[in-house]
Amino acid sequence: MAVLLRAKRASVVAKEKMKIEYVDVLKPQGTEVVVKISHAGVCHSDVHAFEHSSVYALYPFPQNPGHEILGTVFSIGPEANGADEELKEGTSVLVYPWISCDECDRCEQGWHNWCLSGKSRTIGGARAGECGYGEYVTVPHPKFLISSAGIEPELAVILPCCGLTSYSAVKESQSSKISCSDGVVVIIGTGGLGLMGIQWAKKISKQTVVGVDISDSALKIATDYGADFVVNSKNTPDVSAFIKSLDIKNKTVEAVIDFVNNVHTHKLANSLCVRGSNLVIVGIAGGAFETNLMMIPLRGVRIQGVFVGSIPDLKELVEICRGGGIRSIVTKRRPLAEIQDALADLQTGKIVGRSILVL
Ligand SMILES: [Zn+2]
Ligand SMILES: [Zn+2]
Repeated sequence: MAVLLRAKRASVVAKEKMKIEYVDVLKPQGTEVVVKISHAGVCHSDVHAFEHSSVYALYPFPQNPGHEILGTVFSIGPEANGADEELKEGTSVLVYPWISCDECDRCEQGWHNWCLSGKSRTIGGARAGECGYGEYVTVPHPKFLISSAGIEPELAVILPCCGLTSYSAVKESQSSKISCSDGVVVIIGTGGLGLMGIQWAKKISKQTVVGVDISDSALKIATDYGADFVVNSKNTPDVSAFIKSLDIKNKTVEAVIDFVNNVHTHKLANSLCVRGSNLVIVGIAGGAFETNLMMIPLRGVRIQGVFVGSIPDLKELVEICRGGGIRSIVTKRRPLAEIQDALADLQTGKIVGRSILVL
């Protein structure tokens, strides 16, 4: 196949070892689109690839992480133009990376994150291939590209993973069976996802937002990003009593979103739910939890897992961002040459908010 150009791309070549090499970028075929990357988010999942842990341990080296991608359309395949009239070279786009089989019922509706076939073709996933840690990425179809016009780059770049996951979670938290829309939504874990979650909750709900974490510095930032109240669950184990003590009209806990999801946070999240609450589980820290089955119908708590999000949801939140009022959580910018340090810093907890590569 014809080579369009040669460009830099970073790979994990051994445990905790990144290598930047030149690779061929092929001329786009069929509906493919080549995007020139301008920014890429460094996500905590990428640290698992770097460490060769979690699901990434199932696949050999090299691996190509990097799934939060912002760039411009560079070269358009011969059949891609008809698929999207808006598609023009130079258009600023973000990439929906959670691409699956593209054939099953879920994928056809844009819910690639709930693909029924299990055939993941995630950009920046656990296999070698297309990724965000490089100068160019080839996307199989323009439907995976969303215009980022009107959104500042440092906000746009974090939307495909951090933004989308937190938005999906907040949206699920609002699908309540009973309508006490001015009650309380509790956000457990006020790191990067939690900070975005707080902002979405303030934007799309009328609820009082209570942020819970075990770090006072994280909670201080949560207040800055709009949390109405914050509580350190290490110093104040009875979070339920804390909520009952608040001077607000409606203290009903409508929803709890657990962005951590370890044994401790799940126990806390479950204890905060009242009859008819939504319990949204996002984090993948994991563990085991025993529950009294009889209490499931008696409490009527709706438990919903969230794994990233759909293309329609990404389009929705991009539209919300265009309206203003959502702030980026980016705190650190690096060139591609520093990808090794970017991942090591995230691994050792040195990053507050999000770091990005600027190409
Ligand atoms: Zn991610
Ligand atoms: Zn599918």
